[in-house]
Amino acid sequence: MSMAKILNFIDGTYREGKGWFDKRNPCNNEVFAQVAEAGKTEVDAAVAAARRALRGPWGKMTVAERGAILHKVADGITRRFDEFLEAECRDTGKPKSLASHIDIPRGAANFKIFADLVKNVPTESFVLDTPDGAGAVNYALRRPKGVIGVICPWNLPLLLMTWKVGPALACGNTVVVKPSEETPSTAALLGEVMNEAGVPPGVYNVVHGFGPDSAGEFLTSNPDVNAVTFTGETRTGAAIMKAGAGFIRPVSLELGGKNPAIVFADADLDKAIEGTMRSAFANCGQVCLGTERVYVERPVFDEFVARLKTGAEALVIGTPDEPGANMGPLVSREHQAKVLSYYEKAQALGATIVTGGGIPMVPAALAEGAWVEPTIWTGLGDDSPIMREEIFGPCCHISPFDDEEEVIARANDTEYGLACAIWTENSSRANRVAARMETGLVWVNSWFLRDLRTPFGGSKRSGIGREGGVHSLEFYTELSNVCVKL
Ligand code: NAD
Repeated sequence: MSMAKILNFIDGTYREGKGWFDKRNPCNNEVFAQVAEAGKTEVDAAVAAARRALRGPWGKMTVAERGAILHKVADGITRRFDEFLEAECRDTGKPKSLASHIDIPRGAANFKIFADLVKNVPTESFVLDTPDGAGAVNYALRRPKGVIGVICPWNLPLLLMTWKVGPALACGNTVVVKPSEETPSTAALLGEVMNEAGVPPGVYNVVHGFGPDSAGEFLTSNPDVNAVTFTGETRTGAAIMKAGAGFIRPVSLELGGKNPAIVFADADLDKAIEGTMRSAFANCGQVCLGTERVYVERPVFDEFVARLKTGAEALVIGTPDEPGANMGPLVSREHQAKVLSYYEKAQALGATIVTGGGIPMVPAALAEGAWVEPTIWTGLGDDSPIMREEIFGPCCHISPFDDEEEVIARANDTEYGLACAIWTENSSRANRVAARMETGLVWVNSWFLRDLRTPFGGSKRSGIGREGGVHSLEFYTELSNVCVKL
């Protein structure tokens, strides 16, 4: 049987590139597809097609016409739900139980929500007095920003890509998407849905490849890209900013995190354990919003550690199709090596390994997969690399604390500022602490509860800008003020 091929999608058609790279199954490390790597020629062709589409039918459509097409895109994803689910799980190894209620449905919803939102957000208007008494009226118009480069990570591939493509298209832009080299499948499949929904050629393009000296860099160095929206690692964000500096090109950056959870003694521990189980271990810990530092008030510290250990040891590791499995492998052997290097470092630094710390037992057929154990540590200081660097695996360190001021200072003592979770039944305390967290997102008694109308993004080295709701419109449109002398 010949190997599956995953192609670039440029100007409404599927195309090969300058060569091929392997896509491996994270569950067993076997190559299951060859991906067409876009060279500079293909990336430039995609940007040129996006420019033509902007001037052509897409740019001329009414908001209502575009909105109707984007609803069809969402319906198309839903109609082909099983194909998207299969593709996403094959690329990432994540459990189907997870992707079927998060990645795919939320991926589809991103098109509907932003198509509806753009219809309902007003712009500002001011009446100006003038010396002749006649006055002037100012009003602001939103224009699309143009061709948007969308560079995506591998952890929630369809969800995080559509989170940007949905609003970008709803605002009348066209896009060139560079999915992660680890997860090319759903972005490529979406091309078929775009064609079926009647999205004109060139509006949605996909170029596959890597970062430096590959599709990522070819995209960010193309002078005809008007803005770049990126989700990924902080140091990649810095490279993308640098690449756009000469063009004075706007960037939206959603970057890494080292997110704290704070559990006060008055928390409902059932809720706090359930939430921390998800925030530390869901998607095998590969969630930017995930918790890697847990601070627990001393009176409940031992109980919390014991209960989280019980929860972690009850996780069922397995392939996407395995009934009952709720934890898959990491995305690749390369990422497994990175996470295991932190597991070794924690041990070398003298951490107490509450549970995990290594590679789990798996059937022989899966022995080459990127499996790691869910892991909990205690006993390290706040200066340890385990407490400072983003690991992006199914692991957390739990530290005790004694008072509110102390824990606020410790939770904020990081170069990152993406998200935090506060667990307490005292609402005054919850609001008081929330206001002092130096993070773009604060959850109280929950985690990953998302309303797409609200601002999303990180402070400090976790990002620049906010997307979500009206904030997405701010990034994906250019405001023009029209001043009319009466
Ligand atoms: P990554 O930075 O390695 O890669 C992201 C994308 O950038 C990939 O498509 C990659 O090919 C591309 N890329 C790499 N170098 C490039 C360059 N020089 N020029 C252009 N493109 C380049 O990130 P990843 O490993 O795929 O994802 C994990 C990271 O993403 C973690 O740090 C995580 O915290 C972060 N993340 C953040 C959010 C958020 O919303 N803040 C969400 C998810 C993931």
